[in-house]
Amino acid sequence: MRAVTVAPGVRDSLRLDDDWPEPAAEEGAILVQAVAVGICGTDQEIIAGEYGEAPPGQERLVLGHESLGRVLEDPSGTLQPGDLVAGIVRHPDPVPCPNCAVGEWDMCRNGRYTEHGIKGLPGFARERWRVQPRFAVRLDPALAPVGMLLEPTSVLAKAWNHIERIGSRAVWQPQSVLVTGAGPIGLLAALLGIQRGLSVHVLDRNKTGPKPELVRALGATYHTTTVAELDFAPDVVVECTGAPVVVLDAMTKAGTNGIVCLTGVSSGGRTIELDAGALNRELVLENNVVFGSVNANRRHWELAAEALARADQSWLSSLITRRVPLSSYADAYASTGEDIKVVLDFEQ
Ligand SMILES: [Zn+2]
Repeated sequence: MRAVTVAPGVRDSLRLDDDWPEPAAEEGAILVQAVAVGICGTDQEIIAGEYGEAPPGQERLVLGHESLGRVLEDPSGTLQPGDLVAGIVRHPDPVPCPNCAVGEWDMCRNGRYTEHGIKGLPGFARERWRVQPRFAVRLDPALAPVGMLLEPTSVLAKAWNHIERIGSRAVWQPQSVLVTGAGPIGLLAALLGIQRGLSVHVLDRNKTGPKPELVRALGATYHTTTVAELDFAPDVVVECTGAPVVVLDAMTKAGTNGIVCLTGVSSGGRTIELDAGALNRELVLENNVVFGSVNANRRHWELAAEALARADQSWLSSLITRRVPLSSYADAYASTGEDIKVVLDFEQ
């Protein structure tokens, strides 16, 4: 069968293998026919040789962690043939640490977790894959065109879940949310904010392209100013750029009892001037919380599946700016700079 693979650590080793082996029975009881995989910055980093790890004893890693497929067979009876399914990306570490031991692999303490298509487990960019029932998430049949958005949505479902858990430390009635960055993560963060009945503001530097209209179509407000120039103090900030100035401004801008959730990964190496004392005073005197959030566990994947099923399907579809057939895989991984989400389509 065909599979998109790389040699981790080797720049531009991306290729389409024509005779990749069928998924091994040990991968899981549920056999799945691939429908699509979404592509994100992590895939680009792996292709650039900066990141990624092949399974033990293998030279190549199958890419793809934003999965969507249809069940071919499930002898365990958990799912039915034809069911729409996504595979959870991260698996618990083998120790396991106290968090992985209770299914909180998103909070793994020792870093020995594995991840499909990223770290030690084959990805989903192959025509058929297998998954264990506990790592399989069923999607509403209506989500067939957009279900590969479940993985990025799970990351935001976790972020919002933790925001709410932190908020419950005292009486908390948030009204306004600032989302910085209108890429796929920012737009999905905004969607989950709208679904909570909050007043959502999305900030991005793009004045043209599809982003302003996508934000307005959600019922949110689009801003192209700096964070510092905004004329309100958000109760919640979901930071999705990782840009150092935006991150710092977000911490300063958050309102009283505000919660700032950082989801963007900065590349580092850029230094900016910072009055650490002023920032500390701001955080203390306003009871602010700044926290980082990454990955998601099964509970978050299920919350994300519910959120996607409730969302406007045509809005979700409009996040996918290109659908590229598997045979043109190289085009799918080539960045145009204008895309929101590119999807590799296994059914075209
Ligand atoms: Zn762990």
